[in-house]
Amino acid sequence: MAARTFLGTLRLATLLAVLFFVALGAWLDRARSRDWNDTLRVTVYPISDSADAGVRAYAAALQAGDFADVESFFLDEASGYGIALEQPVRIRVSHAVQDLPPALPDRAGPLTIALWSLRLRYFAARTAWKDPLPAPDIQVFALYSRLGPGSAAMPDSVGLSKGLIALTHLYGDAAAAGSNQVVLAHEVLHTLGATDKYDVATGQPLVPEGLGEQDRQPLYPQDFGEIMAGRIATSAHAAVVADSLEQMLVGPVTALEIGWPP
Ligand SMILES: [Zn+2]
Repeated sequence: MAARTFLGTLRLATLLAVLFFVALGAWLDRARSRDWNDTLRVTVYPISDSADAGVRAYAAALQAGDFADVESFFLDEASGYGIALEQPVRIRVSHAVQDLPPALPDRAGPLTIALWSLRLRYFAARTAWKDPLPAPDIQVFALYSRLGPGSAAMPDSVGLSKGLIALTHLYGDAAAAGSNQVVLAHEVLHTLGATDKYDVATGQPLVPEGLGEQDRQPLYPQDFGEIMAGRIATSAHAAVVADSLEQMLVGPVTALEIGWPP
């Protein structure tokens, strides 16, 4: 009985130590990723989430150049906030991942989500270790399927601010390249601490922080959207998905959250 208690205590102490180092590591990563002294290295791992031959071929052929718009988006927006880096974000593409990352369970409670996030971090660490490319600052697992971004069956994309990992669900078709990049930039910003700027119930951008043009007169329709709102408000009750990052910008609240000077 005494031995069992001792083992139990030892197990608990080990678990607490592991959690402490995971938390400390995440805090250090996050502090470093938001100082904007160096280029943030992002690796995108395209993964086909479909048996469809077209989707598989599309995901397999993706190269860094296919994400050039995400790099220019970060360059344009960061320079607008006085960040002098020549390349705030650099994207590389790795095809080193063959198996699917652990899926976020449906309607999960806080404990299930915590365990899932540990499993995803373990998956990400193993991936970085197997990958011939140097370990990046941010890892994006990009799952391509036949479902469109607005589709009800499409699982939510997530960006973990603790661990600098994003899991994005994208449309496996060249026609959706622009809207895919909007989703990708949004999730990368989550990993840097940005919060959503839309109403969870309706998807409508929040006013004013979710609008691209907060001072516009009259306010609607907006021509630009705030990246963390994800959509462009055409009226107080309607919004459209952006076709490209050129229609999106980083608003002042998001900028503050990710450490860009006001
Ligand atoms: Zn979001």
